Amino acid sequence: MNELKINAKLNPIVESESNKKTDIYDVAIIGAGPAGLSAALTLNVHNKNIVWFGTNSLSDKVEKSEKIANYAGLDVVSGKELNNKFRKQMKTAGLELTDKMVTQISKNKKGFMVLADNEIYKAKTVLLTIGAVPSKGITNEQELIGRGVSYCATCDGFLYKGKTIAVFCGAQRYEHEVEYLAEIADEVYLYTTYDSKINLPNVEILKKPMKAVLGENKVQGIELTDGTRFDIDGAFFLRSSVAPATILKKLEMDGAHIVVNRNCETNIEGCFAAGDCTGRPYQIAKAVGEGNVAAHKIVEYLSEKE
Ligand SMILES: Cc1cc2nc3c(=O)[nH]c(=O)nc-3n(C[C@H](O)[C@H](O)[C@H](O)COP(=O)(O)OP(=O)(O)OC[C@H]3O[C@@H](n4cnc5c(N)ncnc54)[C@H](O)[C@@H]3O)c2cc1C
Repeated sequence: MNELKINAKLNPIVESESNKKTDIYDVAIIGAGPAGLSAALTLNVHNKNIVWFGTNSLSDKVEKSEKIANYAGLDVVSGKELNNKFRKQMKTAGLELTDKMVTQISKNKKGFMVLADNEIYKAKTVLLTIGAVPSKGITNEQELIGRGVSYCATCDGFLYKGKTIAVFCGAQRYEHEVEYLAEIADEVYLYTTYDSKINLPNVEILKKPMKAVLGENKVQGIELTDGTRFDIDGAFFLRSSVAPATILKKLEMDGAHIVVNRNCETNIEGCFAAGDCTGRPYQIAKAVGEGNVAAHKIVEYLSEKE
C-alpha cells in the first residue's frame, strides 16, 4: 500500500464528548450523498467519532433530479427539496461536513491515513460513499498519478511555477482552483464541462475534451479528441470524484464498481463501501439502505476490535 508522502500536515483530531482520549477517528466517511448521510446519521446515534468528507452542496445527482417519485415516505419531491431536507437533518443531528476532496487513502497497522486537500486524517475504518465514478479517467491518467497527474491544486500547484499545465475542470465550483493554478503556471490549457467565464491572459480554453495524457515516466503532453497535441509539464483533473482504485490501491473492483459483500465490506479489512459506487441500481433508496448496513457493520467491527 502506498504511504502518504506529501507536503501534508497531520490534522489535529476534533475531540468529541463520546471519545475524548482518541487520537484517531472511528470512521472516515468519504462522500456526502444519500449513502454517506445515512451512514453518518446511524454512526452518530452510536456515538462514533466520525470525520465526514464531501461538498457542502451534498449530492449533485440528487440536486439535479427534477422529480423523485419512488422514495418511500415522501410524495413526489424535487431533488433540491430532498437535498434541503438532508441538510436540515444533518443540522438537527449536529453533523458537520469537512468540505474537502479525498485524493488518497493508505492503510497501516492502526487503520487508515486519509489525505484530503493537503491534510492527513487518521481513522480506524473508512466508508466509501463516493457515488458512481468512471473507472479510470482518460487514457494514461492513472499511470501518471504522482508523475505529473494531480487531483489537487492546493497540494501540487506550487510544483508548476513558470511551467505549462493542462487543467480539466468538471464543475464551476472548482474555478477558484483554476485561477490559483493560473497565478502559478506560465501557461494553462483549460477544458471545462460547462460554459466557463474564466478570461485570463495565460489561460487558453480548449474546445475539445482531453483524450489522453502523454508521456511514459512523467507527463509530457496532452491529446484532445480531435488529435491535437500540446506539450505540458503537468495535468490537473478537478472533478467531484476520483476513481476508487485511484484513491485506495488494491481495492477490488468490478469494472467501475467496488466489490462488496452483503455487509458492505470490501476486500480491504476495515474499508466499507455503500451506494452507487458499489453498483446498480443507481437509486437513493439503495444508497440509503447500504449506508445504514455499512454503519451497523462498522459499529460491530469497531466493538470486536476494542
Ligand atoms: C438526473 C438524475 C435523476 C435521478 N432520479 C432519481 C430518482 O428519481 N430516484 C432515485 O432513487 N434515484 C435517482 N437518481 C439516482 C440518485 O441520485 C443516486 O442513486 C444517489 O444520489 C446515489 O447516492 P450516493 O450517496 O451513492 O452517491 P452520490 O449521490 O453520487 O454522492 C456521492 C458524494 O460523494 C462525494 N465524493 C465523491 N468523491 C469524493 C472524494 N474523493 N472526496 C470527497 N467527496 C467525494 C460527491 O461530491 C458526493 O457528495 C437520479 C440521478 C440523476 C443524475
